[in-house]
Amino acid sequence: MSNAEISPRKIIQQERPTPDELVPSRYAVQVGEIEVVVISDGMLTPPAESMATNANPAERGAWLDERFLSKEAFDWALNAVVVRSGDQTILIDSGIGEEYPDFPRAGQFGHRLEAAGVDLESVTDVVLTHMHFDHVGGLLVEGVKERMRADLRVHVSAAEAKFWKSPDFSLTAMPPALADLARKASLEFMDMFGSHLRTFDEQSEVAPGVVVARTGGHTPGHSVVRISSRGERLMFGGDALFPVSFDHPEWHNGFEHDPEEATRVRLRLMKELAETGSWLVSTHMPFPSVGRVAAAGDLYRWVPAWWDY
Ligand SMILES: [Zn+2]
Repeated sequence: MSNAEISPRKIIQQERPTPDELVPSRYAVQVGEIEVVVISDGMLTPPAESMATNANPAERGAWLDERFLSKEAFDWALNAVVVRSGDQTILIDSGIGEEYPDFPRAGQFGHRLEAAGVDLESVTDVVLTHMHFDHVGGLLVEGVKERMRADLRVHVSAAEAKFWKSPDFSLTAMPPALADLARKASLEFMDMFGSHLRTFDEQSEVAPGVVVARTGGHTPGHSVVRISSRGERLMFGGDALFPVSFDHPEWHNGFEHDPEEATRVRLRLMKELAETGSWLVSTHMPFPSVGRVAAAGDLYRWVPAWWDY
């Protein structure tokens, strides 16, 4: 049977996790009355130099060596989040989807979401930190849009929506083929979900205790989500902070459209996180990517959560 003969719903059902998945690939955190579930989309493996494009190669090599990491490809986690606040179910980002054969270990958000008991039909809101393909790709998978509600709200900053009408890649270190993929994914996304957009300038309360706020830097409209309830806080940091950012906030990531501004943004966010003690979840920190940020002299330290299981 060819793919064309299988209905989209059937495709999703056939991709349900097999029993040989090593871990459930989801991790739940309670923030006051709000439930946050981190779901792994899998792993990306970009070239290690894209983690620090402006670094001295010897220093970058030493950083990798000290952590027993490959100098060729970097095992880059890809996480998305489900938030339940009141009667709303909110997806924050959606993983990379299925269109990118170069990243065979990613694109698992759809079936892992279903395995976590979250029906696409129940999702009331989507929040996008930005419109790169590893964040919107999961929404472009065949059959996904059809299963989502007709009154779905998609929250993205106005600056982000504007940027992708004529995106500038001149300060990134993305190979032309990846830049083309990024352009294509953003166009496809706007085509499919443009009529669902709820844009905001600086920030917007998506649900009680769930506020999305523009930071800029990584992309002009890049945003983070601050979740707070009963005195507890958690920030979803999107692509503001990477594994190298704590030791080297000045290292540019190859996917940053304004790397100088991205450095200022991460320093500002790390200061805020260290001062407030808020939990942080980031797209590309190792799963489950739940931790806190501590001040350490002039720098900051990532303090992973001790798993509760
Ligand atoms: Zn990303």
